[in-house]
Amino acid sequence: MIVVMKAGAAKKERDAVTRRIKELGYTPHIIHGTTRDVIGAVGDERGKSVLQTLESMQGVESVVPILQPYKLASKEVKKEASIVRISDTLAIGGKELVVMAGPCSVENEEQIIESAIAVKAAGAQMLRGGAFKPRTSPYSFQGLEEEGLKLLAKARETTGLPFVTEVIDPDSVDLVASYSDMLQIGARNSQNFALLKKVGQIDKPILLKRGMSMTIQEFLMSAEYIMSEGNQSVILCERGIRTFETATRNTLDLSAIPVLKSKTHLPVVIDPSHGTGNYRYIAPMSFAAVAAGADGLIIEVHPDPEKASSDGPQSLKPKKFQALMDKLRLFAEAADKTLGA
Ligand code: PEP
Ligand code: MN
Repeated sequence: MIVVMKAGAAKKERDAVTRRIKELGYTPHIIHGTTRDVIGAVGDERGKSVLQTLESMQGVESVVPILQPYKLASKEVKKEASIVRISDTLAIGGKELVVMAGPCSVENEEQIIESAIAVKAAGAQMLRGGAFKPRTSPYSFQGLEEEGLKLLAKARETTGLPFVTEVIDPDSVDLVASYSDMLQIGARNSQNFALLKKVGQIDKPILLKRGMSMTIQEFLMSAEYIMSEGNQSVILCERGIRTFETATRNTLDLSAIPVLKSKTHLPVVIDPSHGTGNYRYIAPMSFAAVAAGADGLIIEVHPDPEKASSDGPQSLKPKKFQALMDKLRLFAEAADKTLGA
């Protein structure tokens, strides 16, 4: 249920409402709007009608049911787009188009530092790199783990770029959070509910990837798992879904951008690298994503893709990434976004 407070309702009235919501066995989430606050009361769907009694409380304008199964992620609760803060100077979901770039995996110090310097020079605002890798085969490179996190931190120190890196199990969430600026939940883990709940309890932004066979509704339910634990800083990432098509690694669903934008206030980022699996297709899909309203891109860039430990065929060389970024500015402008100076 959503409790819509009157414009100008007093804090004391809002506090009384949140107290009453708790007494009724539900969890209140306050969402500050431009003219009024709303309070999302989430919990057991059965018996939610008791919340209707809140309508008689001071300062309450109305109590309305949230029709979608996802509540906090829904536009019904919050109409304005959410802006997720990454650092004092960087946020995703606002006017600035945010590009995250770097290798699939952190391999060694030279590789990650060289990548970070190159993507920064091209205009990326964030570094990406996997330290814990969820690989299809147990015999493939599994990542440098904590050593990889240390190298990412070193790359951040060198370039000033904040970084996003994947976390693959609940036990390592605190470790990954202690190093990184944003945690990624990968496609293979996007319905790992124990992991989603755990990242919902930390105070770092989460880049949630869409699962390979996930519907938009399931995707938003996974975001809801994180948000219902308290963490509202969720960014959705479309990274391609499985279809009958084999010419590309996945089928990048760019229609997910306007569809998600119609259903949720959360920012939407596109990953054309996993979405296509081929470096030749990254630039056109990046341009299309920005034209369709994406808030950001996450792109794999490697100084020497032929030698990459993972995802070499879809990784751009720094020069090609630079060319992409130069042209991307025009698309960003056309979409009323800014990209760098
Ligand atoms: C990755 O970002 O390297 C990755 C493994 O992505 P996904 O979970 O989308 O496959
Ligand atoms: Mn990858």
